Amino acid sequence: MAANVLPEKVSENSIRVLNTLFDKNLKTYFSFEVGFCNAHQPYSFRKAYIECPQFLSHKRDNVPAVQLHKLLASAFKILRPCEKNGIKVVRLPGTTNELFRNQQDAVKFLILFIENYKDHEEAFHMAMREEKEPERVECAVLGAHIFSSLALGGIVKMKNTTGQAEECPCSCGMILSAGNTGIGHKKVWHGFPDLLVNHTAVTVTRRTIDVDESREEYRPSTSKRIRLEKMESVESEYEACNKQNTLYGIDFSAQLISQAITHGFAQRKKYNFVNCLVPTIGFTLNRLLIYLYDPDRDILLRRKDRLELMDQNDCLILPAVVELWFILNLHLFGATMSEQICSKLCKSGLKSHLEEFGGLDIYQQSLLVGAGKNELSQGIQLDANILASKHAFCFVDQ
Ligand SMILES: [Zn+2]
Repeated sequence: MAANVLPEKVSENSIRVLNTLFDKNLKTYFSFEVGFCNAHQPYSFRKAYIECPQFLSHKRDNVPAVQLHKLLASAFKILRPCEKNGIKVVRLPGTTNELFRNQQDAVKFLILFIENYKDHEEAFHMAMREEKEPERVECAVLGAHIFSSLALGGIVKMKNTTGQAEECPCSCGMILSAGNTGIGHKKVWHGFPDLLVNHTAVTVTRRTIDVDESREEYRPSTSKRIRLEKMESVESEYEACNKQNTLYGIDFSAQLISQAITHGFAQRKKYNFVNCLVPTIGFTLNRLLIYLYDPDRDILLRRKDRLELMDQNDCLILPAVVELWFILNLHLFGATMSEQICSKLCKSGLKSHLEEFGGLDIYQQSLLVGAGKNELSQGIQLDANILASKHAFCFVDQ
């Protein structure tokens, strides 16, 4: 007999919002290819260099894309809509094991959020008005009001080298734990996400990323050009770079992709995940960029469209909250893609890159989660040959 997890007092509106999880529109993910990159070298996520052939628009049309409910069909088998008094509600099949209770609790978390979403929205409005350290305030409000309210267990760690717990700046009194959020290894990609939320790494910025979707029109910023002009043969290098349609200059996307890959390997090592997708989220200007990486099968996925968390009137978009909740609790419901789905997606190519250039053993065996600056500081002199290579001009930035 199916167990219904809804408490007695849930508004019809909340029920409708819950069921948007099963709307099949928009939740499309596509598999991402990584060409040449500097994953085998000691660079931070901010200095990651990645060539993504799929940024060519004519190739993008042919990229295999899968809807979320097909991608993770096993999770959607557990969590599905049903009819109750003519209204669709979320239900779970009845079992008695521990995981089932966790799944129920996660659904209750979501219901609680939806019923009280106005409080969380108000905290966001406060964050948007903040002029002093706006990214940090936004990050704390996101951690306190969105991630800890939606992720079961609510274990949110905010980047703070002093390790001192922080209070939510909206004066709601919520305390956020803070400390080392470093992931990676000093010999390869590494860096410090702003938040670690259970199995998800989150980076917050207020940078625009519009260039991401229109690669062909990309031109480097003035400051970047000044740095480039110090190099020899800048123009030809730059043209070559543009022709290859690299991620050169698209710092936030490259930062997130390198973080997604590294975080996937790090979580796999820490929790002995096998064939599991691990989420990495970027948050910028009220939009979420969602990446999922399965390090065993070397499949990197990105949500095709950015997920808008707030509308034009700065109101929370609840269906986006529901999707975010699903991503944050992926491991409770099933983060493993079927073999059949995997066969339709392309491999990222990262593993073969590492096999060629070295470093795969570090990714598979030595990555850290929750590391401090000392553990991840570079302290390694780059080989002169690397700096002289055809890709060197991409490394001088920042
Ligand atoms: Zn607050």
